[in-house]
Amino acid sequence: MEATLPVVECFHSLQGEGAHAGRSAYFIRLASCKVGCSWCDTKESWNSAVHLQQNLIDLSLNTTKAQQEGAAFVVITGGEPLHHNLNQLCKEIRKSTLDQENSSIPIHLETSGVDPLSGHPDWITLSPKRHFPPRSDVLFSCQELKVVINNEEDLYFAERMANQTNINAMPQPQLFLQAGWNNKEGQSLAFKHVKNNSHWRLSMQTHKWLGVL
Ligand code: SF4
Repeated sequence: MEATLPVVECFHSLQGEGAHAGRSAYFIRLASCKVGCSWCDTKESWNSAVHLQQNLIDLSLNTTKAQQEGAAFVVITGGEPLHHNLNQLCKEIRKSTLDQENSSIPIHLETSGVDPLSGHPDWITLSPKRHFPPRSDVLFSCQELKVVINNEEDLYFAERMANQTNINAMPQPQLFLQAGWNNKEGQSLAFKHVKNNSHWRLSMQTHKWLGVL
């Protein structure tokens, strides 16, 4: 079990994307990613060797502080967080944020789904990549599917991915298309596809539009 993890940054902000957009959240951005997306906006996270290893207890105590300051949930993101086993980190966060009613802060995971699940997150946002598709078990477990659209092939991929989510789950997984940042073709395709297909919603990167973290 990992007692430390390489961390790029931690910060308290608003969730900018997807089903929980606009809500107060504490972000833990773990280092390491081998998925290699050309459009990645966190390339500095790829090489874990250049980032500090942080103690899991310190990470959980910082999460508790953010919870006391208004964070509604913690988001474990990356990089690709599932390159690491998250069991111990999630256990420490749950222990540290436990309240008198015996509930702890909800743990959200943002992943591309290429590695086995760990940590039993309360909410999984799966952002699958066409050049490195996700594991079918992670796809089936997600509460939220968010597909970045840069071209028409991405739309076909998005529909294929949506068909493999657990549509019998209650509630059903929420399906989002998100245009690649500054990509006019992606913006137009995502907008039209959502307009013509009621099972999809448009995800806006509100933090980027507002120019905040
Ligand atoms: S999976 Fe995420 S962090 Fe990794 S390269 Fe792709 S966009 Fe970047």
